[in-house]
Amino acid sequence: MNLLYYKKKNNLICTLSLIGLALLNSCATKPPHETGHFKTPNLLELVKLDSSIHLDIKYATSNNFAGRQVYKEARAFLQLPAAEALVNANKDLKPFGYGLLIFDGYRPWSVTKMFWDITSKENKKFVANPKEGSKHNRGCAIDLSLYEIASGKEVEMTGQYDEMSERSYPGYTGGTAEQRKMRDLLRRIMEANDFTVYDYEWWHFDYKDWKSYGIENIQFSEIK
Ligand SMILES: [Zn+2]
Repeated sequence: MNLLYYKKKNNLICTLSLIGLALLNSCATKPPHETGHFKTPNLLELVKLDSSIHLDIKYATSNNFAGRQVYKEARAFLQLPAAEALVNANKDLKPFGYGLLIFDGYRPWSVTKMFWDITSKENKKFVANPKEGSKHNRGCAIDLSLYEIASGKEVEMTGQYDEMSERSYPGYTGGTAEQRKMRDLLRRIMEANDFTVYDYEWWHFDYKDWKSYGIENIQFSEIK
């Protein structure tokens, strides 16, 4: 074997190995392995606990940032304590004339992985890294807005759900005073019920005990 041939062959092997590694990385289809003790999952369907909680599950339609239907069923679930806290938040809103409008709750890990893969580098702060999983995967995060009880209509906020712009930030100072007032009312009521808003999304809230639950990847139809 002459030297030139040997070098070429070596380069080819290196290139093939790199491609193989990249493929392995991008094709990881399993949730990350987690160590530690987690509570037994107990995902509850929100509308079964309180029928005055309204749903607008965008991922069950093609009207979402992925541009395709992600869920087969328009349903929303949270782990029991988070679900109970949410029902309480909905009750707290009633005297103001508003109710909760849910966009998404528990989300299988495979969906988080898909969102990550289709999102550009500069917008990655709006999606969770599948290596760590999302708090949605733990059944302890909720995406939501408000509806007006009198009209049943969605309340206007400073930005749209999943907009991926500075209008999504809970501290955004633009928009109208009324929009900011509504956004801040949602936040105040959720915080009073043990949820914390995400720094980049006015609609995303994490329940305080999210660390107690592991990452799940079951589909809605598999939830008992
Ligand atoms: Zn979210």
